[in-house]
Amino acid sequence: MTESLEARQRAHVFYTWTAQSEATPVSIASGQGATFTDHAGKRWLDFEAQVFNCNAGHGERRIIEAMQQQVEELACAHPAAVFETKARLGELLASVTPGDLNHFLLCLSGAEANENALKIARMVTGRSKVIARRRSYHGASMGALSLTGDPRRHHAEPGLWGVIRAEDPYCHRCPFGLEYPACKVRCASHVEHVIQSEGPDRVAAVFLEGITGANGGLVPPDEYWPMVREICDRYGILLVSDEVFTGFGRTGAWFAVDHYGVVPDMITMAKGVTSGYAPLGVVAVNGGIAGYFEHKTLWCGLTNHAHPVSCASAAAAIEVYRDDKLIERAAALEPRMLAGLRAIQSRYPIVTDVRGKGLFGVLELDRPSAPLKPALHAAGLHTLVRDNCVFVTPPLVITGAELDEGLAIIEAAIAEVFS
Ligand code: PLP
Repeated sequence: MTESLEARQRAHVFYTWTAQSEATPVSIASGQGATFTDHAGKRWLDFEAQVFNCNAGHGERRIIEAMQQQVEELACAHPAAVFETKARLGELLASVTPGDLNHFLLCLSGAEANENALKIARMVTGRSKVIARRRSYHGASMGALSLTGDPRRHHAEPGLWGVIRAEDPYCHRCPFGLEYPACKVRCASHVEHVIQSEGPDRVAAVFLEGITGANGGLVPPDEYWPMVREICDRYGILLVSDEVFTGFGRTGAWFAVDHYGVVPDMITMAKGVTSGYAPLGVVAVNGGIAGYFEHKTLWCGLTNHAHPVSCASAAAAIEVYRDDKLIERAAALEPRMLAGLRAIQSRYPIVTDVRGKGLFGVLELDRPSAPLKPALHAAGLHTLVRDNCVFVTPPLVITGAELDEGLAIIEAAIAEVFS
């Protein structure tokens, strides 16, 4: 990175989630496909798809041109305004969501989508408590951070009243100390115990990530989602799938819940919906919830909701995923990714688990993974190392050769730093 550029930016602009003196920023001048170039001209492999959002890859002309055209036609509109791109985005979203999740609140981010889903759940049910898991992240605004189980919430506490924790489907380190399948999926049946102890008529919703994202890529047993769906139905509790991380092909399906044949009552989305080309969050709701708001006010809305440029980028991104069969591509690359990760595990006993779905893979180590970061950066690999995990979440356009290249960099970093 050119020193002067970094210094100019640092002089006035905060880095998030870090002490300013400890920031290790990546500079990005341009990008193409699964790679980007920094300001010193160095090529990077983007194994994090920036921040799990650039699913269609960098430099995707169809999204860029759709945004350019939108700016020319209409760049500023009232959030309730009627215009072609917004109507078309609604139709495109309805064509990819499961079941009758056909009505969409278009907002600004994943956090805000969860804020709104929480408000909607309270409005529709008249109940106030919500259940969310321990190893979860739902966003950095106050309500979403209250839903969040991971330690990022600590710094904003006390959070919202009424968020109750449930344990995670973390088979590798089962919170109940059990083994699958003898456990009979205790992590799912336990949700019912939590509901009963909180008072079923007081619980509005259960919020779950489709597959846990940054808290470890926890792929639940196949029975988990159907069991939780059945429990929620029994108590009239709304089931919300947070697909901000997993939506739009990350796991080899449009949404992670699609793998389990479950239709939640709401899905929250962001990130991949625009491939990160513009900010957009979405709350998808089912027919029952949509019907509730036919004659009741939807007490939600911000100035920049359904921004024309965000709508244009999302409509174009969904068309790219569909037309280029990128969802299928993520599913097809899963065996190659998992085989590569397992090969690393077979050579390095410090790797205690490999898991993943689609183009979302995780190596779990027996120690913190952060020391790998300098070696990964030196070799030109941008990816998340967090807690004990190394993440693989590249753009869905990545080639097989690029995938192998990135995995080789991870293995070399493990060898260099931990051997
Ligand atoms: N939900 C999940 C599962 C996420 O991974 C994230 C972001 O990483 C969010 C919500 C928050 O999304 P945003 O940063 O767009 O507010």
